[in-house]
Amino acid sequence: MIEERFDAIVVGAGMAGNAAALTMAKRGMKVLQLERGEYSGSKNAQAAILDADILEQLTPGFREDAPLERRLVEQRFWLMDSRSHIGLRYRFNDRNDKRPNRHIVIRALFDKWFSGKVREAGATVLYQTTVTELAQNRRGRVIGVRTDRQDRIIHADVVVLAEGVNGLLGTRAGWRERPAPDQVALQVKEMLLLPRETIEARFNLKRDEGVVIEAAGSISRGMTGIGFIYANRECISLGVGCLVSDLQRTGETPYGLLNRFKRHPSVVPLINGSELKEYSAHLIAKRGYNTIPQLCGKGWVVVGDAAELNNTGHRGPLNVAMISGRIAAEAIFRLKSRGDRSTSNSVSLYKKMLNESYEDLKKKNMPALMHTQPDNFLLTHRQLVSKAILNFARTAGRPKAGQEKSDSKAFCDEWSWTGLFGDGFRLPRAWR
Ligand SMILES: Cc1cc2nc3c(=O)[nH]c(=O)nc-3n(C[C@H](O)[C@H](O)[C@H](O)COP(=O)(O)OP(=O)(O)OC[C@H]3O[C@@H](n4cnc5c(N)ncnc54)[C@H](O)[C@@H]3O)c2cc1C
Repeated sequence: MIEERFDAIVVGAGMAGNAAALTMAKRGMKVLQLERGEYSGSKNAQAAILDADILEQLTPGFREDAPLERRLVEQRFWLMDSRSHIGLRYRFNDRNDKRPNRHIVIRALFDKWFSGKVREAGATVLYQTTVTELAQNRRGRVIGVRTDRQDRIIHADVVVLAEGVNGLLGTRAGWRERPAPDQVALQVKEMLLLPRETIEARFNLKRDEGVVIEAAGSISRGMTGIGFIYANRECISLGVGCLVSDLQRTGETPYGLLNRFKRHPSVVPLINGSELKEYSAHLIAKRGYNTIPQLCGKGWVVVGDAAELNNTGHRGPLNVAMISGRIAAEAIFRLKSRGDRSTSNSVSLYKKMLNESYEDLKKKNMPALMHTQPDNFLLTHRQLVSKAILNFARTAGRPKAGQEKSDSKAFCDEWSWTGLFGDGFRLPRAWR
Protein backbone atom coordinates (compact mmCIF):
# COMPACT_ATOMS: atom_id res chain seq x y z
CA MET A 1 0.00 0.00 0.00
CA ILE A 2 1.32 3.43 -1.00
CA GLU A 3 1.03 5.95 1.84
CA GLU A 4 3.82 8.39 1.11
CA ARG A 5 3.65 11.82 -0.34
CA PHE A 6 5.29 12.36 -3.74
CA ASP A 7 6.74 15.35 -5.53
CA ALA A 8 4.85 14.24 -8.64
CA ILE A 9 2.40 11.57 -9.73
CA VAL A 10 2.36 10.66 -13.43
CA VAL A 11 -0.84 9.08 -14.76
CA GLY A 12 -0.03 6.77 -17.67
CA ALA A 13 3.13 5.03 -18.88
CA GLY A 14 2.98 5.78 -22.61
CA MET A 15 5.57 7.91 -24.43
CA ALA A 16 4.63 11.19 -22.74
CA GLY A 17 4.27 9.72 -19.25
CA ASN A 18 7.55 7.84 -19.46
CA ALA A 19 9.40 10.91 -20.73
CA ALA A 20 7.97 13.02 -17.88
CA ALA A 21 8.59 10.43 -15.14
CA LEU A 22 12.13 9.73 -16.37
CA THR A 23 13.08 13.41 -16.54
CA MET A 24 11.78 14.16 -13.03
CA ALA A 25 13.30 11.02 -11.49
CA LYS A 26 16.68 11.86 -13.04
CA ARG A 27 16.39 15.30 -11.47
CA GLY A 28 16.13 13.59 -8.09
CA MET A 29 12.40 14.16 -7.60
CA LYS A 30 10.26 11.62 -5.80
CA VAL A 31 7.99 10.28 -8.55
CA LEU A 32 5.11 7.81 -8.61
CA GLN A 33 3.89 6.58 -11.99
CA LEU A 34 0.59 4.72 -12.33
CA GLU A 35 -0.35 2.65 -15.39
CA ARG A 36 -3.58 0.73 -15.82
CA GLY A 37 -2.06 -1.81 -18.24
CA GLU A 38 -0.32 -5.00 -17.24
CA TYR A 39 2.93 -3.31 -18.27
CA SER A 40 3.93 -0.17 -20.12
CA GLY A 41 2.98 -0.70 -23.78
CA SER A 42 0.53 -3.51 -23.11
CA LYS A 43 -2.24 -1.32 -24.55
CA ASN A 44 -0.14 -0.29 -27.55
CA ALA A 45 0.15 -2.87 -30.33
CA GLN A 46 1.47 -0.52 -33.01
CA ALA A 47 4.62 0.14 -34.94
CA ALA A 48 5.82 3.72 -35.02
CA ILE A 49 8.63 5.93 -36.26
CA LEU A 50 10.84 7.09 -33.44
CA ASP A 51 12.88 10.27 -33.65
CA ALA A 52 16.31 9.33 -32.33
CA ASP A 53 17.44 12.84 -31.41
CA ILE A 54 14.51 13.30 -29.05
CA LEU A 55 15.12 9.98 -27.30
CA GLU A 56 18.85 10.67 -27.13
CA GLN A 57 18.12 13.73 -24.98
CA LEU A 58 16.17 11.53 -22.56
CA THR A 59 18.35 8.42 -22.48
CA PRO A 60 21.75 9.02 -24.03
CA GLY A 61 23.19 5.88 -25.65
CA PHE A 62 19.75 4.25 -26.03
CA ARG A 63 20.85 2.32 -29.12
CA GLU A 64 22.90 -0.05 -26.95
CA ASP A 65 19.89 -1.86 -25.51
CA ALA A 66 16.62 -0.38 -26.84
CA PRO A 67 14.43 -2.82 -28.82
CA LEU A 68 14.72 -1.10 -32.21
CA GLU A 69 13.16 -2.95 -35.13
CA ARG A 70 14.84 -1.34 -38.11
CA ARG A 71 16.42 1.98 -39.03
CA LEU A 72 14.24 3.88 -41.44
CA VAL A 73 15.99 4.22 -44.81
CA GLU A 74 13.07 4.74 -47.13
CA GLN A 75 9.61 6.32 -47.18
CA ARG A 76 7.13 5.62 -49.93
CA PHE A 77 3.99 7.59 -50.66
CA TRP A 78 1.26 5.97 -52.71
CA LEU A 79 -1.71 7.58 -54.39
CA MET A 80 -4.01 4.63 -54.99
CA ASP A 81 -6.91 3.85 -57.22
CA SER A 82 -8.74 0.56 -57.08
CA ARG A 83 -6.17 -1.44 -59.14
CA SER A 84 -2.92 0.53 -59.15
CA HIS A 85 -0.95 3.26 -57.42
CA ILE A 86 1.23 6.20 -58.29
CA GLY A 87 4.27 6.13 -56.05
CA LEU A 88 6.87 8.49 -54.73
CA ARG A 89 9.91 7.00 -53.05
CA TYR A 90 12.48 8.75 -50.92
CA ARG A 91 15.57 6.75 -50.03
CA PHE A 92 18.01 8.14 -47.47
CA ASN A 93 21.61 7.58 -48.47
CA ASP A 94 23.08 7.30 -45.01
CA ARG A 95 23.18 3.50 -45.01
CA ASN A 96 26.41 3.34 -43.08
CA ASP A 97 25.37 5.89 -40.53
CA LYS A 98 26.08 4.51 -37.06
CA ARG A 99 23.59 6.87 -35.48
CA PRO A 100 20.52 6.83 -37.73
CA ASN A 101 18.05 9.60 -37.10
CA ARG A 102 14.88 7.50 -37.21
CA HIS A 103 13.98 3.98 -36.16
CA ILE A 104 10.90 1.83 -36.50
CA VAL A 105 9.81 0.46 -33.12
CA ILE A 106 7.01 -1.78 -31.92
CA ARG A 107 5.42 0.06 -29.04
CA ALA A 108 4.61 -2.97 -26.88
CA LEU A 109 8.34 -3.80 -26.76
CA PHE A 110 9.69 -0.29 -26.78
CA ASP A 111 7.44 1.12 -24.04
CA LYS A 112 8.33 -1.80 -21.78
CA TRP A 113 12.03 -1.00 -22.21
CA PHE A 114 11.39 2.73 -21.73
CA SER A 115 9.50 2.01 -18.51
CA GLY A 116 12.49 0.00 -17.25
CA LYS A 117 14.62 3.16 -17.67
CA VAL A 118 12.09 5.09 -15.57
CA ARG A 119 12.37 2.53 -12.76
CA GLU A 120 16.20 2.50 -13.03
CA ALA A 121 16.14 6.28 -12.57
CA GLY A 122 14.43 5.79 -9.22
CA ALA A 123 10.71 6.34 -9.87
CA THR A 124 8.13 4.06 -8.28
CA VAL A 125 6.08 2.51 -11.08
CA LEU A 126 2.85 0.62 -10.42
CA TYR A 127 1.18 -1.30 -13.24
CA GLN A 128 -2.40 -2.61 -13.28
CA THR A 129 -3.40 0.47 -11.30
CA THR A 130 -6.07 2.75 -12.75
CA VAL A 131 -6.39 6.31 -11.53
CA THR A 132 -10.11 6.70 -10.95
CA GLU A 133 -10.26 10.27 -9.72
CA LEU A 134 -8.20 13.41 -9.22
CA ALA A 135 -8.39 14.54 -5.59
CA GLN A 136 -8.87 18.29 -5.13
CA ASN A 137 -8.92 20.49 -2.04
CA ARG A 138 -11.63 23.05 -1.31
CA ARG A 139 -9.87 25.69 -3.38
CA GLY A 140 -9.86 23.40 -6.41
CA ARG A 141 -6.15 22.58 -6.25
CA VAL A 142 -5.28 19.01 -7.28
CA ILE A 143 -3.61 17.39 -4.27
CA GLY A 144 -3.29 13.80 -5.48
CA VAL A 145 -5.18 10.88 -6.97
CA ARG A 146 -7.44 8.00 -6.05
CA THR A 147 -6.91 4.61 -7.69
CA ASP A 148 -8.81 1.36 -8.01
CA ARG A 149 -6.21 -0.24 -5.70
CA GLN A 150 -6.80 1.67 -2.49
CA ASP A 151 -9.35 3.91 -0.83
CA ARG A 152 -7.02 6.61 0.36
CA ILE A 153 -5.76 9.57 -1.58
CA ILE A 154 -2.14 9.34 -2.71
CA HIS A 155 -0.78 12.87 -2.28
CA ALA A 156 1.56 14.79 -4.57
CA ASP A 157 2.55 18.40 -5.24
CA VAL A 158 1.69 17.98 -8.91
CA VAL A 159 -0.16 15.41 -11.03
CA VAL A 160 0.99 14.93 -14.62
CA LEU A 161 -1.85 13.70 -16.83
CA ALA A 162 -0.35 11.49 -19.56
CA GLU A 163 -3.46 9.38 -20.05
CA GLY A 164 -3.52 9.37 -23.87
CA VAL A 165 -6.06 10.41 -26.46
CA ASN A 166 -9.24 9.66 -24.48
CA GLY A 167 -8.13 11.92 -21.63
CA LEU A 168 -10.99 10.81 -19.39
CA LEU A 169 -9.70 12.35 -16.14
CA GLY A 170 -9.10 15.73 -17.77
CA THR A 171 -12.47 15.59 -19.52
CA ARG A 172 -14.28 14.68 -16.30
CA ALA A 173 -12.58 17.56 -14.52
CA GLY A 174 -13.84 19.90 -17.27
CA TRP A 175 -10.36 20.93 -18.49
CA ARG A 176 -10.82 19.60 -21.99
CA GLU A 177 -13.70 18.72 -24.24
CA ARG A 178 -14.23 15.26 -25.61
CA PRO A 179 -13.00 15.40 -29.21
CA ALA A 180 -15.90 15.65 -31.68
CA PRO A 181 -16.19 12.87 -34.31
CA ASP A 182 -14.63 15.13 -36.95
CA GLN A 183 -11.63 15.77 -34.70
CA VAL A 184 -10.60 12.20 -34.14
CA ALA A 185 -9.58 9.34 -36.44
CA LEU A 186 -10.09 5.64 -35.80
CA GLN A 187 -7.11 3.54 -36.83
CA VAL A 188 -7.29 -0.22 -37.18
CA LYS A 189 -4.19 -2.24 -37.63
CA GLU A 190 -2.92 -5.76 -38.06
CA MET A 191 0.46 -7.21 -37.30
CA LEU A 192 1.35 -9.86 -39.89
CA LEU A 193 4.18 -12.31 -39.30
CA LEU A 194 6.68 -13.10 -42.07
CA PRO A 195 10.26 -14.40 -42.01
CA ARG A 196 12.87 -11.69 -41.84
CA GLU A 197 14.48 -12.62 -45.19
CA THR A 198 11.08 -12.54 -46.94
CA ILE A 199 10.42 -9.02 -45.68
CA GLU A 200 13.86 -7.88 -46.79
CA ALA A 201 13.43 -9.38 -50.26
CA ARG A 202 9.93 -7.99 -50.78
CA PHE A 203 10.77 -4.47 -49.64
CA ASN A 204 14.25 -4.42 -51.18
CA LEU A 205 16.03 -3.98 -47.86
CA LYS A 206 19.45 -4.88 -46.55
CA ARG A 207 19.79 -6.16 -42.98
CA ASP A 208 18.20 -3.84 -40.37
CA GLU A 209 17.01 -1.34 -43.01
CA GLY A 210 13.34 -0.39 -42.77
CA VAL A 211 10.62 1.10 -44.99
CA VAL A 212 7.34 2.83 -44.28
CA ILE A 213 4.63 3.22 -46.92
CA GLU A 214 1.86 5.81 -46.51
CA ALA A 215 -1.10 5.49 -48.86
CA ALA A 216 -3.95 7.82 -49.79
CA GLY A 217 -6.67 7.68 -52.43
CA SER A 218 -9.19 4.92 -53.06
CA ILE A 219 -8.20 3.19 -49.85
CA SER A 220 -10.30 5.63 -47.80
CA ARG A 221 -13.29 5.47 -50.18
CA GLY A 222 -13.75 9.23 -50.35
CA MET A 223 -13.27 9.76 -46.62
CA THR A 224 -10.45 11.66 -44.94
CA GLY A 225 -7.94 8.99 -44.10
CA ILE A 226 -4.78 7.12 -44.94
CA GLY A 227 -3.32 3.65 -44.94
CA PHE A 228 0.14 2.62 -43.83
CA ILE A 229 2.53 -0.32 -44.05
CA TYR A 230 5.60 -0.69 -41.82
CA ALA A 231 8.29 -3.23 -42.63
CA ASN A 232 9.41 -4.37 -39.18
CA ARG A 233 12.04 -6.98 -38.34
CA GLU A 234 9.88 -10.08 -38.51
CA CYS A 235 6.41 -8.70 -39.11
CA ILE A 236 4.55 -6.15 -41.15
CA SER A 237 2.22 -3.59 -39.54
CA LEU A 238 -0.56 -2.66 -41.87
CA GLY A 239 -3.46 -0.35 -41.07
CA VAL A 240 -6.03 2.19 -42.13
CA GLY A 241 -7.33 5.25 -40.30
CA CYS A 242 -10.29 7.49 -41.12
CA LEU A 243 -12.09 10.35 -39.41
CA VAL A 244 -14.81 9.00 -37.14
CA SER A 245 -17.38 11.47 -38.54
CA ASP A 246 -16.71 10.13 -42.06
CA LEU A 247 -17.13 6.53 -40.89
CA GLN A 248 -20.44 7.48 -39.25
CA ARG A 249 -21.62 9.32 -42.35
CA THR A 250 -20.76 6.58 -44.84
CA GLY A 251 -21.47 3.52 -42.69
CA GLU A 252 -18.11 2.06 -43.77
CA THR A 253 -16.50 -0.23 -41.21
CA PRO A 254 -12.80 0.19 -40.42
CA TYR A 255 -12.29 -3.56 -40.73
CA GLY A 256 -13.91 -3.50 -44.20
CA LEU A 257 -11.47 -0.77 -45.26
CA LEU A 258 -8.55 -2.74 -43.87
CA ASN A 259 -9.57 -5.89 -45.74
CA ARG A 260 -9.93 -3.98 -48.98
CA PHE A 261 -6.47 -2.47 -48.47
CA LYS A 262 -5.03 -5.96 -47.90
CA ARG A 263 -6.61 -7.24 -51.14
CA HIS A 264 -5.27 -4.36 -53.26
CA PRO A 265 -3.00 -5.69 -56.04
CA SER A 266 -0.17 -3.40 -54.88
CA VAL A 267 -0.36 -4.75 -51.33
CA VAL A 268 -0.93 -8.47 -51.90
CA PRO A 269 2.66 -9.27 -53.02
CA LEU A 270 4.02 -7.62 -49.87
CA ILE A 271 1.92 -9.58 -47.36
CA ASN A 272 1.23 -12.84 -49.19
CA GLY A 273 1.56 -15.92 -46.98
CA SER A 274 1.77 -13.92 -43.74
CA GLU A 275 0.21 -15.03 -40.49
CA LEU A 276 -2.02 -12.68 -38.48
CA LYS A 277 -0.53 -12.10 -35.05
CA GLU A 278 -2.56 -9.22 -33.67
CA TYR A 279 -5.44 -6.89 -34.51
CA SER A 280 -5.93 -3.59 -32.73
CA ALA A 281 -7.91 -0.36 -32.94
CA HIS A 282 -7.06 3.04 -31.49
CA LEU A 283 -8.22 6.64 -31.67
CA ILE A 284 -5.92 9.42 -32.86
CA ALA A 285 -6.85 13.04 -32.19
CA LYS A 286 -6.67 15.31 -35.23
CA ARG A 287 -7.21 18.68 -33.68
CA GLY A 288 -4.80 21.51 -34.35
CA TYR A 289 -2.60 23.94 -32.47
CA ASN A 290 -5.41 26.44 -32.05
CA THR A 291 -7.58 23.97 -30.15
CA ILE A 292 -4.94 22.74 -27.69
CA PRO A 293 -6.77 22.81 -24.36
CA GLN A 294 -5.61 24.39 -21.13
CA LEU A 295 -2.20 22.78 -20.49
CA CYS A 296 -2.03 23.14 -16.71
CA GLY A 297 -3.77 24.48 -13.67
CA LYS A 298 -3.57 24.32 -9.89
CA GLY A 299 -1.53 21.22 -9.14
CA TRP A 300 -1.85 19.57 -12.56
CA VAL A 301 -0.20 19.48 -15.98
CA VAL A 302 -1.32 17.62 -19.12
CA VAL A 303 1.05 16.15 -21.76
CA GLY A 304 1.07 14.10 -24.97
CA ASP A 305 -2.11 12.99 -26.71
CA ALA A 306 -4.17 13.97 -23.67
CA ALA A 307 -3.09 17.55 -24.39
CA GLU A 308 -3.84 17.02 -28.10
CA LEU A 309 -0.26 17.88 -28.93
CA ASN A 310 -0.40 15.99 -32.17
CA ASN A 311 -0.63 18.48 -34.99
CA THR A 312 2.87 17.69 -35.99
CA GLY A 313 3.44 18.06 -39.70
CA HIS A 314 5.57 15.08 -40.62
CA ARG A 315 7.39 14.57 -37.30
CA GLY A 316 4.90 12.26 -35.56
CA PRO A 317 2.70 12.68 -32.48
CA LEU A 318 4.67 10.07 -30.59
CA ASN A 319 7.78 12.23 -30.71
CA VAL A 320 5.84 15.32 -29.69
CA ALA A 321 4.41 13.28 -26.79
CA MET A 322 7.99 12.66 -25.58
CA ILE A 323 8.93 16.31 -26.04
CA SER A 324 5.92 17.57 -24.10
CA GLY A 325 6.53 15.07 -21.28
CA ARG A 326 10.16 16.16 -20.96
CA ILE A 327 9.39 19.87 -21.15
CA ALA A 328 6.55 19.69 -18.62
CA ALA A 329 8.87 17.79 -16.28
CA GLU A 330 11.64 20.38 -16.69
CA ALA A 331 9.14 23.19 -16.00
CA ILE A 332 7.91 21.39 -12.86
CA PHE A 333 11.49 20.87 -11.68
CA ARG A 334 12.46 24.50 -12.28
CA LEU A 335 9.45 25.82 -10.38
CA LYS A 336 9.97 23.33 -7.55
CA SER A 337 13.64 24.36 -7.24
CA ARG A 338 12.53 27.97 -6.76
CA GLY A 339 9.73 26.94 -4.36
CA ASP A 340 7.19 28.48 -6.76
CA ARG A 341 3.68 26.99 -6.58
CA SER A 342 1.94 29.71 -8.59
CA THR A 343 -0.37 28.36 -11.28
CA SER A 344 0.07 31.22 -13.69
CA ASN A 345 3.87 30.81 -13.60
CA SER A 346 3.67 27.09 -14.36
CA VAL A 347 1.20 27.65 -17.21
CA SER A 348 3.33 30.27 -18.87
CA LEU A 349 6.63 28.46 -18.31
CA TYR A 350 5.44 25.12 -19.77
CA LYS A 351 3.71 26.74 -22.75
CA LYS A 352 6.65 29.07 -23.38
CA MET A 353 9.17 26.23 -23.25
CA LEU A 354 6.97 24.10 -25.50
CA ASN A 355 6.53 26.85 -28.07
CA GLU A 356 10.22 27.66 -28.10
CA SER A 357 11.39 24.11 -28.46
CA TYR A 358 8.80 22.88 -30.90
CA GLU A 359 7.78 25.34 -33.58
CA ASP A 360 6.37 22.46 -35.67
CA LEU A 361 3.33 22.29 -33.42
CA LYS A 362 1.96 25.29 -35.26
CA LYS A 363 2.11 23.60 -38.65
CA LYS A 364 -0.87 22.18 -40.41
CA ASN A 365 -0.69 18.49 -41.21
CA MET A 366 -1.73 16.46 -44.22
CA PRO A 367 -4.93 15.01 -42.74
CA ALA A 368 -5.97 18.52 -41.74
CA LEU A 369 -5.28 19.73 -45.24
CA MET A 370 -7.25 16.88 -46.79
CA HIS A 371 -10.06 17.56 -44.37
CA THR A 372 -10.33 21.25 -45.02
CA GLN A 373 -9.74 20.83 -48.75
CA PRO A 374 -11.97 17.99 -49.91
CA ASP A 375 -11.72 19.42 -53.44
CA ASN A 376 -8.04 18.58 -53.57
CA PHE A 377 -7.52 17.73 -57.22
CA LEU A 378 -5.01 14.90 -56.99
CA LEU A 379 -6.97 12.95 -54.40
CA THR A 380 -10.41 13.53 -55.84
CA HIS A 381 -9.40 12.69 -59.40
CA ARG A 382 -6.83 9.98 -58.70
CA GLN A 383 -8.45 7.67 -61.28
CA LEU A 384 -7.89 10.27 -63.98
CA VAL A 385 -4.31 10.85 -62.88
CA SER A 386 -3.61 7.14 -62.74
CA LYS A 387 -5.14 6.52 -66.20
CA ALA A 388 -3.18 9.40 -67.73
CA ILE A 389 0.09 8.05 -66.31
CA LEU A 390 -0.72 4.55 -67.54
CA ASN A 391 -1.48 5.84 -71.02
CA PHE A 392 1.73 7.84 -70.99
CA ALA A 393 3.82 4.82 -69.89
CA ARG A 394 2.44 1.99 -71.99
CA THR A 395 2.78 1.34 -75.71
CA ALA A 396 -0.34 0.17 -77.47
CA GLY A 397 0.94 -0.30 -81.05
CA ARG A 398 -0.73 2.89 -82.26
CA PRO A 399 -0.01 6.64 -82.09
CA LYS A 400 -0.67 8.16 -78.65
CA ALA A 401 -1.70 11.62 -79.79
CA GLY A 402 -5.45 10.85 -79.72
CA GLN A 403 -5.27 9.28 -76.26
CA GLU A 404 -3.24 12.17 -74.86
CA LYS A 405 -5.76 14.64 -76.21
CA SER A 406 -8.64 12.79 -74.59
CA ASP A 407 -6.74 12.53 -71.28
CA SER A 408 -6.07 16.25 -71.15
CA LYS A 409 -9.71 16.96 -72.14
CA ALA A 410 -10.85 14.75 -69.27
CA PHE A 411 -8.64 16.77 -66.90
CA CYS A 412 -10.02 20.07 -68.11
CA ASP A 413 -13.63 18.82 -67.95
CA GLU A 414 -13.24 17.73 -64.34
CA TRP A 415 -11.33 20.73 -63.17
CA SER A 416 -9.86 23.83 -64.67
CA TRP A 417 -6.11 24.27 -64.73
CA THR A 418 -6.55 26.77 -61.94
CA GLY A 419 -7.62 23.77 -59.81
CA LEU A 420 -4.25 22.17 -60.42
CA PHE A 421 -2.45 25.43 -59.67
CA GLY A 422 -4.56 25.53 -56.49
CA ASP A 423 -3.07 22.18 -55.44
CA GLY A 424 0.39 23.48 -56.18
CA PHE A 425 -0.31 26.43 -53.93
CA ARG A 426 -2.10 24.52 -51.13
CA LEU A 427 0.16 21.51 -50.70
CA PRO A 428 3.32 23.44 -49.72
CA ARG A 429 1.22 25.41 -47.23
CA ALA A 430 0.53 22.16 -45.39
CA TRP A 431 4.05 22.29 -44.06
CA ARG A 432 4.02 25.92 -43.00
C1 LIG B 1 -2.13 2.44 -35.13
C2 LIG B 1 -1.35 3.65 -34.67
C3 LIG B 1 -0.16 3.95 -35.26
C4 LIG B 1 0.53 5.06 -34.83
N1 LIG B 1 1.70 5.32 -35.45
C5 LIG B 1 2.40 6.39 -35.07
C6 LIG B 1 3.66 6.69 -35.72
O1 LIG B 1 4.14 6.00 -36.60
N2 LIG B 1 4.32 7.77 -35.32
C7 LIG B 1 3.84 8.57 -34.32
O2 LIG B 1 4.51 9.55 -34.00
N3 LIG B 1 2.69 8.34 -33.70
C8 LIG B 1 1.95 7.27 -34.04
N4 LIG B 1 0.76 7.03 -33.43
C9 LIG B 1 0.30 7.97 -32.37
C10 LIG B 1 1.04 7.70 -31.05
O3 LIG B 1 0.82 6.36 -30.68
C11 LIG B 1 0.53 8.62 -29.93
O4 LIG B 1 0.64 9.96 -30.33
C12 LIG B 1 1.36 8.43 -28.65
O5 LIG B 1 1.22 7.10 -28.21
C13 LIG B 1 0.91 9.39 -27.56
O6 LIG B 1 1.59 9.10 -26.36
P1 LIG B 1 0.90 9.37 -24.96
O7 LIG B 1 1.88 8.99 -23.92
O8 LIG B 1 0.32 10.72 -24.91
O9 LIG B 1 -0.35 8.37 -24.91
P2 LIG B 1 -0.34 6.77 -24.92
O10 LIG B 1 0.86 6.24 -25.57
O11 LIG B 1 -1.69 6.38 -25.43
O12 LIG B 1 -0.25 6.38 -23.36
C14 LIG B 1 -1.29 6.64 -22.44
C15 LIG B 1 -1.14 5.63 -21.30
O13 LIG B 1 -1.96 6.02 -20.21
C16 LIG B 1 -2.57 4.86 -19.66
N5 LIG B 1 -3.79 5.31 -18.96
C17 LIG B 1 -4.86 5.94 -19.49
N6 LIG B 1 -5.74 6.26 -18.53
C18 LIG B 1 -5.22 5.83 -17.37
C19 LIG B 1 -5.69 5.89 -16.01
N7 LIG B 1 -6.83 6.46 -15.67
N8 LIG B 1 -4.90 5.32 -15.04
C20 LIG B 1 -3.70 4.75 -15.36
N9 LIG B 1 -3.22 4.67 -16.63
C21 LIG B 1 -3.96 5.22 -17.62
C22 LIG B 1 -2.83 3.97 -20.88
O14 LIG B 1 -2.99 2.63 -20.53
C23 LIG B 1 -1.57 4.22 -21.71
O15 LIG B 1 -0.55 3.31 -21.40
C24 LIG B 1 0.04 5.92 -33.81
C25 LIG B 1 -1.16 5.60 -33.18
C26 LIG B 1 -1.86 4.49 -33.62
C27 LIG B 1 -3.15 4.15 -32.97
